[in-house]
Amino acid sequence: MKAVILPAHKQGYRIEEVPDPKPGKDEAIIKVNKAALCYRDLLQIKGFYPRSKYPLILGHEVVGTVEEVGEDVKDFKKGDRVTSMLFVPDWSCEYCKSGEEVYCKNRVVYAQELDGFFAEKAKVKASSLVKVPESVSDEGAVIVPCVAAMVYRGLKKAGIKKGEIVLVTGASGGVGIHAIQVAKALGAKVIGVTSGESKAKIVSKYADYVIVGEKFSEEAKKIGDVSIVIENVGPYTLEESMKSLRSGGKIIQIGNLDPSVTFNLRLGYIILKDISLMGHIGANKNDIIKTLNLVKEGKIKPVIGSEVSLENFGKALDLLNDSKNRYGKILISNSF
Ligand SMILES: [Zn+2]
Ligand SMILES: [Zn+2]
Repeated sequence: MKAVILPAHKQGYRIEEVPDPKPGKDEAIIKVNKAALCYRDLLQIKGFYPRSKYPLILGHEVVGTVEEVGEDVKDFKKGDRVTSMLFVPDWSCEYCKSGEEVYCKNRVVYAQELDGFFAEKAKVKASSLVKVPESVSDEGAVIVPCVAAMVYRGLKKAGIKKGEIVLVTGASGGVGIHAIQVAKALGAKVIGVTSGESKAKIVSKYADYVIVGEKFSEEAKKIGDVSIVIENVGPYTLEESMKSLRSGGKIIQIGNLDPSVTFNLRLGYIILKDISLMGHIGANKNDIIKTLNLVKEGKIKPVIGSEVSLENFGKALDLLNDSKNRYGKILISNSF
C-alpha cells in the first residue's frame, strides 16, 4: 500500500510503497476512508517531535472501515465504520479508570510511537476505536477526535455556562471554525477573530460576531464580557486574548503555530485580572462519543476547505502553509 512516511528525524517525508499491515490479537485493520491534515503533522515534519519512532507513517486523524480484526477483538467487525482516539491508553491506571485517559502515563500515540493514518490502510488497537453513527458522514467523523471533541473537553474543563461569551482566535482555521460550533452547541455566544475579509465571510456563517485584525480586544470588550478564549494561534494573539477577557476569565491554549517563538507573560496582569491560562491537550473517548452525537444532531457541521489525494500530499502541505487563503480542514483521501 501507499503511505506518507517520515524516514527519520528532520528528514522530510516520502510517499512510499510499504507492506499491508496485519492485525495482532487486539488490533484491527481499517481501510482509511479519509484522513485529515493537522498542524501537528507539519510540526512533526519540521522535527518538533524528536521522540517519534522512525520510520513512521504520518497522520493521526482518521475515519475508516474495518476490514479485518484480530482474534481477541469482540466489539468491532468487518464493515464497521470507525474513527480512532489519537492515542492508545493502558485502560488500567487511575487516570484511565477515572475517565481521564488523556493523562495516562503509559499511553502510546498514533503517528508518534505507532504508525498513523496517511496510508491506504492502518493498523489500530481496537480499544482506541469509536463507532461512527450511521447518519454521520466521513467528513463529520474525521473532524471529531483531534478537533471538535478536543474543544468540547476544553470548554467543559473551563466550566462553560449557557449564555457566556466565548472568543475564538484563528477562527477560520480547521480548529477555529469547528470550535465556534462546539461553543455554540454548548450554549455560548461566540466572537470569531480572524485576519482577513475573505476569511471573515466564512467565519460569519458560524459565529455571532466577527472581528477582523490583530488588535481585537477593544472591539471584543464592546460586545460584552468574554468568559473564555479559545486560543488557536499562540504568542501572536495571546496578549490581545488576555486583554479581551473579563476578570476571572479563562484562556484555553490550544494552538502554538510556531513553537520556537516564546511569550513574555506578565504575571501581575494574570494575578490582578484573576485569569486562568489553561493548557489543553485533547479528548477522552467519552468526549469523542458525545461530540459525534452533536455532529449527528446537526449542531456541528464539518467545514472542509479542500481535499487532496494521498499521492498529492505535498499539495495539502502547501494549502496548510497558505495562511491567507486556507480555511476549515484539509482532508487526505484515498484514490486507490
Ligand atoms: Zn490533529
Ligand atoms: Zn492509563
